[in-house]
Amino acid sequence: MDTRAFKRSLHHSDRYNRRGFGLGNEVAGSLEQAYQSNLVASLRENGHELQRGRLTVLLAEAFGFCWGVERAVAMAYETRRHYPKERIWITNEIIHNPSVNDNLRQMGVQFISVDQGVKDFSDVASGDVVILPAFGATVQEMQLLNERGCHIVDTTCPWVSKVWNAVEKHKKHQITSIIHGKVKHEETLATSSFAGTYLVVLDLKEAQLVCDYILGKGDREAFLARFAKACSPDFDPDRDLIRVGVANQTTMLKSETEEIGRMFERTMLQRFGPIELNDHFVAFNTICDATQERQDAIFALVDKPLDLMVVIGGYNSSNTTHLQEIAVSRGIRSYHIDTPERIGPGNRILHKPLNQESIMEDPFLPAGHIRVGITSGASTPDRVVEDVIERLIGLSEAG
Ligand code: SF4
Repeated sequence: MDTRAFKRSLHHSDRYNRRGFGLGNEVAGSLEQAYQSNLVASLRENGHELQRGRLTVLLAEAFGFCWGVERAVAMAYETRRHYPKERIWITNEIIHNPSVNDNLRQMGVQFISVDQGVKDFSDVASGDVVILPAFGATVQEMQLLNERGCHIVDTTCPWVSKVWNAVEKHKKHQITSIIHGKVKHEETLATSSFAGTYLVVLDLKEAQLVCDYILGKGDREAFLARFAKACSPDFDPDRDLIRVGVANQTTMLKSETEEIGRMFERTMLQRFGPIELNDHFVAFNTICDATQERQDAIFALVDKPLDLMVVIGGYNSSNTTHLQEIAVSRGIRSYHIDTPERIGPGNRILHKPLNQESIMEDPFLPAGHIRVGITSGASTPDRVVEDVIERLIGLSEAG
């Protein structure tokens, strides 16, 4: 399918909008009331540090809402204003944050239901308004909504669109896209829908398996079994790993994406030699600035003396999970929570360790003076960070 031609024609449709409705001033008050925080604003102005009694809070230099998320949420609020009576749907969570999604529900925005990973669009009718979230939607979903006569409000972050453009360039030049991402994540599903031939690798280990195969060290059947759900239809590792380009889910660990790029470059160099390298390997920089800034900021934060970290963000938020990984990799007691209500009652916290179900820890805050580092993922509003800090202050004063 010519996804570029489809996008071009969709962009010219009068039922498609990707720029908002010019109602920024009208929705600013509601957004500020729901998501902004005076406490966090004052922390930003005062060196990202707060001292209350025995508690010192150190806030990461970059954290919380990125501009792509702010833009998507503002567009969703504008959409409600612009279409006060129409039914409005979102193809998925607008972003991975429970409070933001709850607020939209209260505004009458409905979420497309999902059954065993399959979305059910049967209730969506012609004339309905459908919002595509910040991490995008698959080209097949866009086609379906367009053919059904829906109004489409596309909040896909331009950084995500940039990755789609990268994989479309791969497709045009018969290059296989190696996508560093989580195969079931909505953004990676969308990106792979715009790619031609592709293979999704989760981490360095999987990338190494692919590189080994390219160098003739793999077993075909084992390879096909391992990547059965992570590649384009009819993927043939002997035919489709001759020319590769690396792209990524925008919220993956930056250092890992870069290392994967280098691994493939080295592998192609080894197999085809320096003169032919450019015919067999291409890379575009598709790591988003916001993800990079938040990861750089937590690396700086964990270098300071800390007793513990609190990482705030949705449990299905990829960029938040990577922040937690960085803290854990430095041996810091780090607690990933999705809402402030996970703290308390009493000195306890219900948190989600990496790759595990949630567990309760009681007692949570130790005795004596404590230094707590805080960061939050790109989908977490400042108001949520404020509520977490208030709860920590309350606990430290009670203890
Ligand atoms: S994290 Fe990056 S790619 Fe994702 S919405 Fe924010 S700015 Fe866009």
